[in-house]
Amino acid sequence: MTAHNITLIPGDGIGPEVTKAARKIIDATGIKINWEICEAGAEVFKKGKATGVPQETIDSINKNKIALKGPLETPVGFGEKSANVTLRKMFETYGNIRPVREFPGVKTPYSRRNIDLVIVRENVEDLYAGIEHMQTPNVAQCLKLISRKGCEKIVRLGFEFARSQGRKTIHCATKANIMKFSEGMLKRTFEEIAKEYPDLKAEHIIVDNCAHQLVKKPEQFEVIVTTNMNGDILSDLSSALIGGLGFAPGANIGDNACIFEAVHGSAPKYAGKNTINPMAVILSGVMMLRHLGEFKHALDIEHALFVTCAVDKVLTRDVVGDANAASTTLFTDTVIKNLGKRLDGVVDRPYKPLNIDNSNIPIASIKPKERFVEGVDVFIENIKPIVELGKAMEQAAAAASMKLKLVTCRGMKVYPLTTNSVPDLTDQVTARFAGNGPLDDSQIQKIITEVGKVANWSHIEKLHVFDGKPGYTRAHGEE
Ligand code: NAP
Repeated sequence: MTAHNITLIPGDGIGPEVTKAARKIIDATGIKINWEICEAGAEVFKKGKATGVPQETIDSINKNKIALKGPLETPVGFGEKSANVTLRKMFETYGNIRPVREFPGVKTPYSRRNIDLVIVRENVEDLYAGIEHMQTPNVAQCLKLISRKGCEKIVRLGFEFARSQGRKTIHCATKANIMKFSEGMLKRTFEEIAKEYPDLKAEHIIVDNCAHQLVKKPEQFEVIVTTNMNGDILSDLSSALIGGLGFAPGANIGDNACIFEAVHGSAPKYAGKNTINPMAVILSGVMMLRHLGEFKHALDIEHALFVTCAVDKVLTRDVVGDANAASTTLFTDTVIKNLGKRLDGVVDRPYKPLNIDNSNIPIASIKPKERFVEGVDVFIENIKPIVELGKAMEQAAAAASMKLKLVTCRGMKVYPLTTNSVPDLTDQVTARFAGNGPLDDSQIQKIITEVGKVANWSHIEKLHVFDGKPGYTRAHGEE
């Protein structure tokens, strides 16, 4: 039997306890694993490493291609980035698979509803690209970047994953009704790629209704593909249906490396108390074993967990409350004692290896035949009365041989005013200028120079037209 080399990151807070439990159980199956223990997170930040991920950890994952990771604490507010997000992005783990399955012996208001769904969350794009700027001292901006390539990868992962588990339906949850370009990109890609999978019933659902339906009738879902932020929220919500974050495992899937980790965080208030539920990381380990092709060991652990919860009724405090709770270590030892046992009545899924090849997805698969720039949005800091600013922008436009279309504040037209109501302003507005035909960069530079003479601008956006279709949205109130 060849040994697997795996990077193990104990993590912060409850991380060391839960990863220790997972490692002990995995080792007890008899599988040969060389664990390489690596650091990331709070201690690394404290040592002054701004990414929270030291080079040795990066080298280890690069070499081993597989990591089992405990949760990492994320500094809140300004400064360091989340080491979790850094790891996901560094290894381009573009997909985060989060199964949510009713657990035998764990009573919840949803028990016996046969919840068995999987959230396939895009993992590196969206608002989590972490591109944030203060546009003015009072207005913050976070860029939501969604690429066609990213959508193709996550949608294919969703369909291939659904197939590998013999699922029949797949949903795509987006907010495409409001964010037509960004969230809409995932919807369009999903609908296109769905044609290649006629064996799966594919449906789009608006994400807020998806949240509603998940609470109302979760058993209708099998696989839900979604964007990064939506997936983060939907997966926490879904985990609560089956007993909470203690039962929610996850796998970060990339072409070159996969990182397995629970959905939950470092839960600092429980750190070191030997009371936390280690199941989510153990189940992440089960996903890891299946990824390695170790299907028998994975099934052994899964059934040992079932027997521990449903037959022995050894359960942690998050399920049974403090009075009747088993400690983390007692739970772990009971699972080890139950290795090899099977729980009757559980239908095991037909797991198959994933069959994914992303190497042929081009950087730019959409190639417009015709394109031009028909205007420009200039983002401006302003505390002057809006009419004064609007008139100054009209003059700037005239000097650059352009036309001011309108001024908006947070996407709403505020100049020229069409009603008598005074708009509620912030200190950031956007002036939209149109050319008298396609614009070149020299005209854009000219308008920026003219605007800069009377106002402090912070950024610009070109208004593209691709194959006759505007590559920008109208403002609210724009004719
Ligand atoms: P959290 O650590 O997930 O904890 C939230 C709550 O979930 C806990 O208070 C507890 O609920 C429950 N919970 C979490 N893990 C559990 C487990 N194993 N068993 C039973 N219940 C569990 O979320 P947070 O408090 O928002 O975040 C804490 C830190 O973790 C932050 O720094 C955050 O950035 C980080 N984080 C890291 C990751 C990651 O590494 N992937 C993910 C999320 C958050 P009760 O209070 O009801 O008992």
